[in-house]
Amino acid sequence: MNNIIEVKNLSFAYDSDEPDKKALENVSLSIREGEFVGIVGHNGSGKSTLAKMFNGLLLPTQGDVFVMGMNTKDEDSLIDVRRTVGMVFQNPDNQMVATIVEEDVAFGVENLGVEQSKIRGVVEDALRAVDMFEFKGQKPHQLSGGQKQRIAIAGIIAMKPKCIVFDESTAMLDPVGRSEVLSQMHKLNKEDGVTIIFITHYMEELIDADRIIIMNDGSYYKEGTPVEIFSDTDELKKLRLNVPETVELADGLRKAGMNISHNVLTKEDLVEAICQLK
Ligand code: ADP
Ligand code: MG
Repeated sequence: MNNIIEVKNLSFAYDSDEPDKKALENVSLSIREGEFVGIVGHNGSGKSTLAKMFNGLLLPTQGDVFVMGMNTKDEDSLIDVRRTVGMVFQNPDNQMVATIVEEDVAFGVENLGVEQSKIRGVVEDALRAVDMFEFKGQKPHQLSGGQKQRIAIAGIIAMKPKCIVFDESTAMLDPVGRSEVLSQMHKLNKEDGVTIIFITHYMEELIDADRIIIMNDGSYYKEGTPVEIFSDTDELKKLRLNVPETVELADGLRKAGMNISHNVLTKEDLVEAICQLK
């Protein structure tokens, strides 16, 4: 599989007067096309700073970020970089720009210079994709948090990016809103092959990810499959990361001497593992 994003020896300081105070330090990683990657790390570990590097909202102080082979520092590529990687942020209210849902979804597409005659169709398709078509004439402030976040996602989908970065996009939502957005992400990944980078501190949302990358204090710490990452609950706690309840329970049973498989991630897995003890 090709790499859609490559980060090479990336360091970044917000304040050029304090170059030693680095938000990111010598980070190297890559994201493959079509992957669903989770990025986790405690507060202030550099996740949002890294996310903004993925589509050139921030540029490295040292090192490079390549998107489909384009260096984000290359000004001539910036529009193509932004077309390739879309971003959905935490607070849906800050992402609403228009007073009517369909105008809001159209905003980004219009800025890409898409022909006026095609915009309506593109916007309607995007609204259908997030199951919000019937809300197209509504005012965004009348919608729930999860619905607003789906509108923000529609605005990004309309621009047809190959990759979408979700930076804690579920954090402000209630459980229903969170599961709406989560299933939307998986649908985009599975059905349309969109590469998904999902930043969260709800570890249980990453059980179905292809790969999880852990950031710690501005540095890349390690990566692995969910099973690999969740297998060491003590290490996760040391990194100030929460552990999904089921994983913690399985770990407790193991420590109490029960022979529970290390592949336990979901409730169903745990039930099966316990049944197999007999
Ligand atoms: P995370 O998203 O993992 O919580 P951030 O990328 O937001 O982490 O922050 C990484 C570091 O950069 C933190 O020390 C934070 O205080 C600092 N930082 C974040 N945004 C800014 C900013 N706009 N100006 C200065 N420092 C910032
Ligand atoms: Mg953040």
